[in-house]
Amino acid sequence: MRLVLLGPPGAGKGTQAANIVKKYQIPHISTGDIFRKNIKEGTELGVKAKEYIDQGLLVPDDIVVAIVKDRLVEDDCKEGFLLDGFPRTVAQAEALDQELKDLGYNLNNVINIEVDKNELIERAVGRRICKECGATYHIKFNPPSKAGICDVCGGELYQRKDDTEETVNKRIKVYLDQTEPLISYYTDQGIIANINGEQDIDKVFKDIVDVLGSEN
Ligand code: ADP
Ligand code: AMP
Repeated sequence: MRLVLLGPPGAGKGTQAANIVKKYQIPHISTGDIFRKNIKEGTELGVKAKEYIDQGLLVPDDIVVAIVKDRLVEDDCKEGFLLDGFPRTVAQAEALDQELKDLGYNLNNVINIEVDKNELIERAVGRRICKECGATYHIKFNPPSKAGICDVCGGELYQRKDDTEETVNKRIKVYLDQTEPLISYYTDQGIIANINGEQDIDKVFKDIVDVLGSEN
């Protein structure tokens, strides 16, 4: 199964990705997670990406495309994968189509999670992430059982530097400008499913499984 998760920042892509990869046993490829790992490790890529991420801007296409191409040829992607947060521009989507064609694959589904702008800001500002395993929580909508501590691994939770109201507003603008056009791009390809993201996390997942099928 080869999937793309589309949606504005804070829509619930990472949250649903965790459920999807567990059920369908495919690797989770989040470009945002790859950048955050590199920033934490202080790599050259991390230093470069941080300049854009902290401002709520997109990392340039050539950098992101090169990372995804390298990742898609790894062995664990042979049977499928879930792309989360990529593509984010039409140029990235075209590069992905070309790469998949070269590899002899095609995308099965694009899952587009729809959430209203005001809700996005509340979700992103209240988001907390585990420093150790990357699990995602929300202080109000999906709190851990013990404040500040990850239920999965006991790690410490932190708030992303780009999850302030100001930066989230900027990221939403960038989304509307550069990423939203992908909805018609994939509608034209006939592979998009629009999912109402303003429901409980479990109900959103159920709607996604209804589209993907319950076989894994
Ligand atoms: P994205 O990966 O699209 O940026 P996340 O999955 O990180 O979004 O979700 C953003 C925030 O919203 C997180 O704090 C998450 O716990 C919360 N969240 C995700 N899905 C829902 C939902 N259906 N209802 C309420 N809060 C949600
Ligand atoms: P995310 O974790 O998906 O919210 O991504 C965090 C940030 O990483 C984004 O705001 C961008 O700055 C950068 N980023 C992640 N994926 C991409 C992408 N496909 N293209 C450009 N920038 C990206």
